[in-house]
Amino acid sequence: MPRRTQRPEAKRTEVLECNQRHCSYCGELMWHAYDNHHTVTGLEEVVHLQLQVRWCVNPECEHYQVPYRPEEEGRWALPHHEFGLDVIAQIGAWRYQEHRTVSEMHERLQRQGVVISPRSVINQLERYDELVTLSLRQSAQLQQRLTEQKHVILAIDGLQPDVGHEVLWVIRDCLSGEILLARALLSAAQDDLAALLQEVVTVLPVPVVGVVSDGQQSIRKAVAKALPGVAHGLCHFHYLREAVRPLYEADRHAKKELKKRVRGIRTLERQVEEREDLASVATQGYCQAVRSALTDDGRAPLDAAGLRLRERLTQIGASLERAEKKRGSQ
Ligand SMILES: [Zn+2]
Repeated sequence: MPRRTQRPEAKRTEVLECNQRHCSYCGELMWHAYDNHHTVTGLEEVVHLQLQVRWCVNPECEHYQVPYRPEEEGRWALPHHEFGLDVIAQIGAWRYQEHRTVSEMHERLQRQGVVISPRSVINQLERYDELVTLSLRQSAQLQQRLTEQKHVILAIDGLQPDVGHEVLWVIRDCLSGEILLARALLSAAQDDLAALLQEVVTVLPVPVVGVVSDGQQSIRKAVAKALPGVAHGLCHFHYLREAVRPLYEADRHAKKELKKRVRGIRTLERQVEEREDLASVATQGYCQAVRSALTDDGRAPLDAAGLRLRERLTQIGASLERAEKKRGSQ
């Protein structure tokens, strides 16, 4: 069936790297083998994920050249899935906590700017149902796959669509990409999380050799309690990005406001266009400086574009003031 809704293009690329750098079978360093791509439609935006896939290069290793994908990919979306896990979590929350109908959910998503068809809303709801009813104990296929794999590297993520909604906790295996448990909980207390981890660990046919998370304190403590002695890798970049998100939003707003104030340069530019007297040339230079400040974009989380724009405009302003003073004293 042809697609009825055209998917918007990703406006941003996120490069994901493997947190785990050493082969969990032989301990050798895994090499960056190739990049993989996955475009995900999330609640806030369409993101292109560039995934740096690694593999073990030790020919003696049983996991020789078996691709290992960045752990964080599974936090964005299910394998080969177009819509983000946040969209699935949001639809599940609306359905089961607010009892919304499919057309209501569809309308709300569209209002939020998510391009999705009503059919896809139904599909995401089905995925949500599959996730939360999934039982590692009863899935023979999953048990077999993990047994062949000999061990797992767990990742634990909490997706909270809206403040006040339940959090969808997802525990998955980074080696196979399989989800092992998904549960919506109102709280994120460490005891609840430890119980979830415990639930997975007791039915796993193989040992856990590592855990990856964004390092929230409650997760860290839960992992220490449920899996004492297991190495816990923190995805620092992700942790940082989450921590500065409110700042990033404020900065983006500030940049928008600043841009409004210098909109007048277009008129100014036109006035001095093709003029070669000293004052006009100087004005052209200043306009160019403002233009280049406007196009200079920062990248979250460590680079604040709004702050940088303010700094550059302040410098331009100070330079203008100095020029004005000089002229005044002449
Ligand atoms: Zn190896």
